[in-house]
Order: sequence, then C-alpha cells, then structure tokens
Amino acid sequence: MQSVRGGGGVTPAPVDFRRGEVAPGAVTDDRVNLLGLPRAELEAFVAERLGAKPFRARQLMKWIYRRGVAEFGSMTDLAQDFRAQLAGVAKISVPEIVTAQHSSDGTIKWMLRMDEVQGIETVYIPEPDRGTLCISSQVGCAMDCAFCATAQQGFNRNLSVAEIVGQVWLAHRELAAMGLETRTDGGTHGRRITNIVMMGMGEPLANYRNVVPATRIFMDDLGYDLSRRRVTLSTSGLVPQIYKLAGECNVALAVSLHAPNDELRNELVPINRRHPIAELLAACWHYLDEQNGRSITFEYVMLDGVNDTPDHARQLARLLRGRPAKLNLIPFNIFPGTKYRRSPAAVILRFRDVLNENGVIATIRRTRGDDIDAACGQLAGQVTDRTLVRLGSRHGSARRSEVEA
Ligand code: SAH
Repeated sequence: MQSVRGGGGVTPAPVDFRRGEVAPGAVTDDRVNLLGLPRAELEAFVAERLGAKPFRARQLMKWIYRRGVAEFGSMTDLAQDFRAQLAGVAKISVPEIVTAQHSSDGTIKWMLRMDEVQGIETVYIPEPDRGTLCISSQVGCAMDCAFCATAQQGFNRNLSVAEIVGQVWLAHRELAAMGLETRTDGGTHGRRITNIVMMGMGEPLANYRNVVPATRIFMDDLGYDLSRRRVTLSTSGLVPQIYKLAGECNVALAVSLHAPNDELRNELVPINRRHPIAELLAACWHYLDEQNGRSITFEYVMLDGVNDTPDHARQLARLLRGRPAKLNLIPFNIFPGTKYRRSPAAVILRFRDVLNENGVIATIRRTRGDDIDAACGQLAGQVTDRTLVRLGSRHGSARRSEVEA
C-alpha cells in the first residue's frame, strides 16, 4: 500500500467508448474500463467493438462481480482469442487501497486512492444479521453541511462509475480474503456485503449521472444482486434530482433532514435555502408514490442545544405524522475543529420518546467505528486541490451548475 502524494487535481470527462475516449484519470491508456458498465452498455460494447454476442457480456459480468476477477487471462470459459481481443481494447481497473483500519467493533475503514492525488473512504460495518458497506460518491463535498467533516474538506470532483463500483469490488475481495469471522457466541460466518448505503463522502445526487449506473450494477443479478431495499441513497435534499430519480431508479431513499423548520435547516444544511422543507417533503412523497416504496428514512443528527429539544421533536412530528416516514436519530460524531457537541444520551432518548408519543417511528443509530474516525460525518479522505465550491455562506456561494452536476 502506498501513501497519497500531493499535486494538482484532474477533472474527469465522461467516458464514451464508442468514440474511444480516454477514461478519467488515464493519461496514456485508451482501453475502456469495464468496471461499472451497466449490462446494456457492456452488451453494446462487446457487440460494437468485438462483434461478440450479448451472452459474452453476461459471462464477463459474472467474472467481474461474482468472482471478483480483474484479469481477462483468468476468465477460463472465454475463448482464448476473445480474451486477447478484449485485453487490447478493455481493462478492469480498480482503485488502489492506501490504508485499512480496523475498529474494535469490527468496522473496517479503507482509504482508497482514486488518482494521483485524491483519496476517498469506504467503510464496512458488520452486524450479526448483515454487513453494510458505506461508499463515497465524490471526492469531498460541496453541500457544506455545518456539522459534517467531509464538508470541511471542500469539493474536488465527482467519482466515476468505475470508482463508485470499484469500492464494492475491493471490499468484496478484501472481505473474502479475511475468511470467516468469529461471532460473540463462538460461531463463525463469512463477512458479506448484504447492504450498500451511499452515505460516505459526497452528495450522491450531485453526481447523478455516475451514481445511477452504479446502482444498476448493485442491483443487477449478474452484478451484486442486491434487492432495491438493500441499496440506500442518502441525500441532503437535491429536490430536482429526487424527482428525476423517481422515474429512473428504484433504490431506497434516505434524506438528511436534521432540523424541523427552515430557519434552523438553512443554517445546518445550506441546500435548504434553495429547496426548503415543504418542497423537499413533497419530492419525497412523490418518490414513494412513483416507486411504490414503503417509507423514507429521515436522518436527524443530534446536536447538543441546537436541534434537540422536545419542542423540536414536536415540530418534527407535525411534519411527518401520518406519512410513510421513519426517523433515524444520529448521535453527532465529533471531528477536529467543529463547534458542535453530541446531545447527551438522556436528551436523545427523550427526543425519540416525544416523537414516538406523537405518532412518528424513531430509532437511534448506533455509532460504529468512531475509534477509527469511520462514523457518520467523520470521513475526510484525502482531498487535495479542492475548489472552495460550497453552498454555505462561510465560503461564498456556489454556482448551481457546479453543485448539481
Ligand atoms: N451527502 C449525503 C450522504 C452523506 S452523509 C447526505 O447528506 O445525506 C450520511 C449521513 O451522516 C447524513 O445524514 C449526514 O448528515 C450525517 N452526518 C454528517 N456529519 C455527521 C456527524 N458529524 N455526525 C453524525 N452524522 C453526521
């Protein structure tokens, strides 16, 4: 594993294999990275570039995702001349692991090198009945939420589809290599990825065009074969993209609410100044209607003395009562330089009880991996040469096109 070097950033262009463009970050290599190409695109690629039948694409997907193979030479059920042809025009390139940190609670955090200068973080959270992988969608983030460590990093660039899917590919490989895990009851089980949450660094809906194809790989039965309820996209509230997503993709939606009124939310989640709560909630209910979805999870970070009073809980209940909504209360995770503090445990319990008494289902998220800075809001990665494109007033206002790419 190598350390991350400093230097200038790169701005990736979209890949279009039909015109033989160079993949993001690649300098001399014009082979197309097959990692992350959704099934239809992979079928088109093998047909147009290699004159092969669609079943070749399906074979390739099984090798790449199910078996975790990245060398064409090892794909033994593909004819040798087809493998040689493939190697000339395509590659399977995955991000490189810089560091792996293991928490005492079993959580693992990987720092992955994305290109010459940038690093992002991916976190695996094992639980008795599932294994959740929390992945990043951008290098840094432009949303500027007041209480989030990633926001302090600023924004550098969107991750490509390959870089998003590559996080799952790598975690899959690393977990398999670790073998069986011993449970507290003495039994053993494999470390598996049963759920993927886009709750790492970045705002997934600000990288819509790369995030949506990645979710297709997660849910494809030749990809990671996860059901729609096991792939969750968490957003700070980019309303136009929620409407767009409703018609194109059927992942579970989580929404970072964090405040029960616009005045407070404007301060904590600056995108609220553009898309206030009423607009955001309307988009959420539309999403559920279109998707036939069960409910939306609203995330609410518990900040001591800021948004955690029983009155805040009652205001929240008025917004969500009778709606298909669940509240997930997240104890604030501290990071260097923040002015916020975590609400005391008794305050969080009281907040939950007031919500429950007022007809809203609320649960408290257990903090995982905080001893290795892997908990919600603590992911910082390595964001170099960031443009201070942020939404909040602390660093000037962003242009719409840059934030909502
Ligand atoms: N940009 C997306 C996803 C990333 S953050 C979003 O905003 O939803 C995943 C969750 O962690 C969000 O609900 C986010 O608001 C929350 N979070 C951010 N910083 C936190 C912190 N310091 N402590 C606890 N939760 C935090």
